[in-house]
Amino acid sequence: MASPVNSSAQPSSMAARSEPVRNKSHDPKKPHITDQAITKSNWYKHVNWLNVTLIIGVPIYGFIAAYSTPLQWKTAVFTVVYYFMTGLGITAGYHRLWAHTSYSARLPLKIYLAAVGAGAVQGSIRWWSRDHRAHHRYTDTDKDPYSVRKGLLYSHIGWMVMKQNPKRIGRTDISDLNDCPVVVWQHRNYIKCVIFMGMIFPCLVTGFGWGDWKGGFIYSGILRIFIVQQATFCVNSLAHWLGDQPFDDRNSPRDHVVTALVTLGEGYHNFHHEFPSDYRNAIEWHQYDPTKWSIWMWKQLGLAYDLKQFKQNEIEKGRLQQLQKKLDQKRQTLDWGVPLEQLPIIDWDDYQTEAKGGRALVAVAGVVHDVTDFIREHPGGKALITSGIGKDATAIFNGGVYNHSNAAHNLLSTMRVGVLRGGCEVEIWKRAQRENKDISFVSDSAGKKIIRAGSQVTRIAEPVASADAA
Ligand SMILES: [Zn+2]
Ligand SMILES: [Zn+2]
Repeated sequence: MASPVNSSAQPSSMAARSEPVRNKSHDPKKPHITDQAITKSNWYKHVNWLNVTLIIGVPIYGFIAAYSTPLQWKTAVFTVVYYFMTGLGITAGYHRLWAHTSYSARLPLKIYLAAVGAGAVQGSIRWWSRDHRAHHRYTDTDKDPYSVRKGLLYSHIGWMVMKQNPKRIGRTDISDLNDCPVVVWQHRNYIKCVIFMGMIFPCLVTGFGWGDWKGGFIYSGILRIFIVQQATFCVNSLAHWLGDQPFDDRNSPRDHVVTALVTLGEGYHNFHHEFPSDYRNAIEWHQYDPTKWSIWMWKQLGLAYDLKQFKQNEIEKGRLQQLQKKLDQKRQTLDWGVPLEQLPIIDWDDYQTEAKGGRALVAVAGVVHDVTDFIREHPGGKALITSGIGKDATAIFNGGVYNHSNAAHNLLSTMRVGVLRGGCEVEIWKRAQRENKDISFVSDSAGKKIIRAGSQVTRIAEPVASADAA
């Protein structure tokens, strides 16, 4: 999601009117370190040492210090509570309120979310939202700041521990954020906000609350920051790597309950990339999305309003189209027999001659089938199937002797070798096709005919006798 300290590390790719903080040492004309390949002699110049210290170094210190710091239960409870508060600052605040404007918040809620969001130590709202909008706009491309196509580890943490060329990241419009006084104030005072909300505030609670200053520093401060950072980083890595793609599989975002559990409900990421302005990530009531529940609760309290929701009809359309795509892919792996239009046209006389010559040919509804290899396997016995050889077996096959199942028609279609010239049953089928739209064929995405159950060409719905009479 974002790097701990960045407001000064990376200048905005948007030259906005009210650019609050600019990296004065950055000269866009000077070649960036990322323009050089990583070698044994320059690798350390590629590393963002400040982020390495904050994301990796400080937590290591925290884990070591935890050995000599007993964990008091009150501190443990507060750490979990503050974990949720700061985590929701990112998911409900940074992400769904500011990056996607999926709902509107009253000023007190904005201030609260900006404060606890800073306590999660993931950069300013302004910086975070700009990168996140680029991530949505340029998902999986080189302009995506944390593209999973560069590897799972890169999308999780690599993009922060290695220096990034700010020119690489795709441009996005953040003029609305530049107009939000809470966002601008937090961006200008970001370092102060982080130190206070990340470290001092939890220490004050545990220290004044029950005298556990050190526990507050190590558990509610350092280790809580580490966990909330790793959890939200999972939205960039895990949510683009693990799970299903029920809405669109052209890009990497995926839905998975494990990611949802880790990220306070941000795990339905395939849905989220399809419908980013929806205030929900989980659309089913039983799916875990405490971020959605919080926003809904704030609405009941009058703190949030204008919660955006995509129409269920649109959501189901997306789901259906993806299902259709999967069906098409599955259909293309199956043998449906040679398409009728590619079959050779055989004269009735030639058909009979070949059949008499020993080839087990059976004509059903004007289509000629070679059943030589199937005779011994015929469930109805050898005698019945051989009685149809060299004849028009349309009526026999369609109820005259045995009304064959859809599966039998499917199997028969894989044996077809030709169509009869002017075959009267083919004519009947053609006419039926014209008259009865149910039999008209639809093509799938590969242009192959979709053969629905009961609509094989060899299946004659009406009794053949009446069709003859028609
Ligand atoms: Zn994503
Ligand atoms: Zn998003």
